[in-house]
Amino acid sequence: MSSERKFPPACWAEAEGILLLRSIATGMVRLSQVANTGATTLPYPDEAQRALNSTILTCLLLKAEPPTSLLKLVEWAAHRPVDRWPAALPPDAVPPGSLLLDKATRQPTQLCYEWAVDAEDSASLYSEQRYMTIAAQRCQEEVHPEAYHAFRRLLVRRPVLTHRELTTLPAAGNGELEALGDLLRDIYQPTPASYLDQEQRTYTACARCHTLLHPTTEGGLWCERQRCRDMGTVRRGREYRADHGGGIHLLIRPLRQWVSEPGTWEIRMARRLTNNGADVELWPGFGNYGMRVRLPDGTALAVDCKDWASPALLGRQAKPPPPDPPYDRCTWVVPSARLRDRPGFRATFERYRSSSSPDLITDRELVGTVRQLVGPVALRNRHTGMALDRGDEPREGLF
Ligand SMILES: [Zn+2]
Repeated sequence: MSSERKFPPACWAEAEGILLLRSIATGMVRLSQVANTGATTLPYPDEAQRALNSTILTCLLLKAEPPTSLLKLVEWAAHRPVDRWPAALPPDAVPPGSLLLDKATRQPTQLCYEWAVDAEDSASLYSEQRYMTIAAQRCQEEVHPEAYHAFRRLLVRRPVLTHRELTTLPAAGNGELEALGDLLRDIYQPTPASYLDQEQRTYTACARCHTLLHPTTEGGLWCERQRCRDMGTVRRGREYRADHGGGIHLLIRPLRQWVSEPGTWEIRMARRLTNNGADVELWPGFGNYGMRVRLPDGTALAVDCKDWASPALLGRQAKPPPPDPPYDRCTWVVPSARLRDRPGFRATFERYRSSSSPDLITDRELVGTVRQLVGPVALRNRHTGMALDRGDEPREGLF
């Protein structure tokens, strides 16, 4: 029986294996949050205990050997690929061989967070949404889009701040952040001790993405971003003494995963599209979507950059952004590398998305199409010094 017939996406969410996986992912995220505050004593968080109970029950029903403790469950999450857990899962629900915890650091993987936000009741706890909504509302009330932009750029460029920077930032030439001072203190938390090099008493940032590297059990360093790991060896960036500037604060994980990382990519993509002659606005409508791309014929595209490990979960999240500012088409952009490594990625996304949700294209396809549509006009205008001619008919392409 095909996976689609056995688990149609409509009732996929209620399948027992899905509920179990979601519960384990939520338990692992919660456990890591508690462990990162240094509180590792009993009682364990309810979510983690519930995940253990559900796993044991499922194992007993399936006559499989259950994990005997929460520590065993953590070991499973760090070593047993999710598609080999004793749970009935649709074959396309998880990327083959993927783990919920990183082996060498026991930190939740990107996939683990994606599962934790798949459930409505836990999404608000583990996603970036509530913080981004507060920031957007405050800046909107003060009619201050520059403040919202400064906030987004800070999250992208500075996932690490010293305590002194955090407390003086709004006053030190960044007045636009003044209304967001208390929010900044909520989202930049004292760095968990697990990131500290205990001998040197230092934290080390990744030279590529500037978030902190996590020490591994083998004495190495690990970057949480898949894109940095795809580039091979770890590149050590800035070192921070533990007491530097009154202590080191790290942006909380959901904002690193769902705002900083795509933001880096969105800024780069906006630059490429602008260089190719498109008119690009980042985070329009106080962040209603990632960027608004205007083409010479007046067509406006709403573009969001999405780099998710699971195409099924990404498809389940897919919905059009609010129409402010208005757009003609909306599209989600994924890295070409993700589709190259996972040939079934697009097909799985398509199976899980609703008919009204955004299209999925790669970054290369977007840049190539915009270049095709805008390039000749931009080039001609560069020579003539004229404004873009909106009367030009676009050539064939994705839009
Ligand atoms: Zn990195």
